Amino acid sequence: MDNSKLADLLFPDVKSSPEDVEKRFPQRELPDGACVTRIGPSPTGFVHLGNLYNALIGERVAHQSGGVFYLRIEDTDNKREVEGAVETLINAMDYFGINFDEGAVADGDNGNYGPYRQRQRRDIYHVFAKQLVQMGLAYPCFLTADEIDAIREQQTANKENPGIYGKYAEKSRSLTIEQIEANMAAGMEWVLRYKGVQTDEYISVEDAVRGKLEMPRNNMDFVLLKSDGIPTYHFAHVVDDHLMRSTHVIRGEEWISSLPMHVELFSVLGWNQPIYCHTATLMKIEDGSKRKLSKRKDPELALAYYQQEGISPDAIWEFLLTLLNSNYEEWRIANPDADYREFPYSISKMSISGALVDLDKLRNISKDVIGKMSAQEIFDKWSSWCENYDHTFAELIRKYPERTLAAVNVGRNAKKPRKDIETWKQACSFLSFYYDETFSPEDSMPEDISEADRKEFFSRYLASYDHNDDSAAWFDKVKAITEELGFAVKPKDYKNNPEQYKGSIVHTTNMLRIALMGRANAPDIHEVSHVLGEEIVRRRLEKWA
Ligand code: GLU
Repeated sequence: MDNSKLADLLFPDVKSSPEDVEKRFPQRELPDGACVTRIGPSPTGFVHLGNLYNALIGERVAHQSGGVFYLRIEDTDNKREVEGAVETLINAMDYFGINFDEGAVADGDNGNYGPYRQRQRRDIYHVFAKQLVQMGLAYPCFLTADEIDAIREQQTANKENPGIYGKYAEKSRSLTIEQIEANMAAGMEWVLRYKGVQTDEYISVEDAVRGKLEMPRNNMDFVLLKSDGIPTYHFAHVVDDHLMRSTHVIRGEEWISSLPMHVELFSVLGWNQPIYCHTATLMKIEDGSKRKLSKRKDPELALAYYQQEGISPDAIWEFLLTLLNSNYEEWRIANPDADYREFPYSISKMSISGALVDLDKLRNISKDVIGKMSAQEIFDKWSSWCENYDHTFAELIRKYPERTLAAVNVGRNAKKPRKDIETWKQACSFLSFYYDETFSPEDSMPEDISEADRKEFFSRYLASYDHNDDSAAWFDKVKAITEELGFAVKPKDYKNNPEQYKGSIVHTTNMLRIALMGRANAPDIHEVSHVLGEEIVRRRLEKWA
C-alpha cells in the first residue's frame, strides 16, 4: 500500500504540514516551573461539581506556578450538545470564582492557542490524521454498525475483549487502495482507525496523583476520526493538549482506562506526554456505604444546586480544598484569616479514594465562612443572590436597606458571635421576621402559661417599655415583671422548686421572642427590638396583650 497515496485520497483538502501547524502554536514563553492546565468540559448543559472540582485543581496548579489556565470546549459529541451550554458553563465557573486566562468565551475565543472549541479545530486534527496515514499508522474502516454488532456478539460468545483489533481488524486493514477508492466513490461511510499493535508489552505512566500506573500497551484499532470527520475524545485530547502546550492534564479517574490509547498517540507522534493527574470520583455516603454521586438521584451533583441553595462560592472553595488536600483543615486552623488562595496546594497530597461530598460538612463550612464576613459583605452577597433567586427578598432588601444591614449584623458583636446564616437561601427564612411582609411565626406560645398570665405579662411589658433603655436597663425591667408575676428570675430556682413558681424567665423571654420573632430560638431580644424599631415592636407585642 502506498501510504502517501492513501493519505491524499482520504484527505485531499489537507495542504498544511504538521510543521506548519506546530508553528501556529509555538511553545509558550513562561517562567521555569510554570504549569499550563485546562478544563475540557462537554457542552451538555449540565455543569457538575466534578467540573468545578477539576477546575479548582487546574486553577490552583496554574496560578500558583505563574502559569496559564484555559477553557477548552470539548464538543466532539454533538448529540450531547445543548444550546447556550457554553454560556451556562462560563457563568457557573465565574459565579464560583474560577477565572480563565484564556480559552472559549461566550461569543468566541480569548487567546492565541484557539480555536478553543474542538469542532472548530477540525482542519488541525486532519493534518495529524493525514500524517498518521502517511506513517502507515491509520486506515479507513468501512465496517457498518451491523458488522460491528456481529463482531461484538462473537466476542461475547468467545469471552474475548470487545473492540476492533487483531483478526477483527483484518477485513478493513486488508483493503487495497482501489477497494477503498471504490467504497468512497459508492458513498460508503468510513471512520479512521489507529493501527494497534498486538503485543504483551506494558506501559508505565507516572500519574501525579496516583504514582506509577502500569497497564497493557494499547492493542486496539480505536477510532481517531468519526464518519463526519470529527475526532474522538482520544485523538482530540492528544492533539489539543500537545498544541495548546498543556503541561498537566487534570481529569477524572474514569479516563484511566483509555490512557494506553493516549500514551500510544503521544509516542508515535513524537510528542512529550503531559503530566497526568487522574482525580478521585465524587462520592456520597448512603445507608452507611459509599457510592458514586449520580446525576439522576443526587441534585447536589449539579453545580446549579449550590447556586440555587445560595452556598457562597467561598464556602465551596473551602469545602473542595478540604476534599482535595488532607492538610487543608490543619492549615486553616493555623491561618484562620488567610485567603484560601494562600494555601500551598499540592497535587501529590490528593487522596485517591473517592472524594466524599458531605453536605452537612459543607453547610458547617459555609456557616463559618459567612460568620467571618462583615455585615456589609453579607448584605451585598445576600442581596445579589436574592436578585437572581428570590425576588421577594430582593425587593424587601431594596425597600429596607438600613434595617437589613442592621439585621445581618445582629449577634455578631458578641464575644462568641452568632453564626445564624448558613446559606443565602436559608438567610431568607432566618431573617424573614425582620419584615412584616414575610413575618410568619413558627413557634407557638408556651402551653404551660395561662392566657391570663400571658396577657398580663405583655401588658406590663408594654407599659414599662422604653425603646431608649439600654440592654441592662431593659433586662432589669424584664426581670422585675417576671418576678412580680410569680415566675422565677433564675431558671435554676424554678427547676428546684417548680411548685413555687408559674414558670421561669425562660418562659417570659420565650414569649417575647415568639411575639417579636416568631420563634423561641432566636437572637437577642433587645438588639432585635432596635433593628425592628419601636412601632413594629409595639404592634407585634400588643397582639398578645
Ligand atoms: N471532555 C472530557 C469530559 O468532559 C474532559 C476530559 C479531560 O479533561 O481531558 O470528561
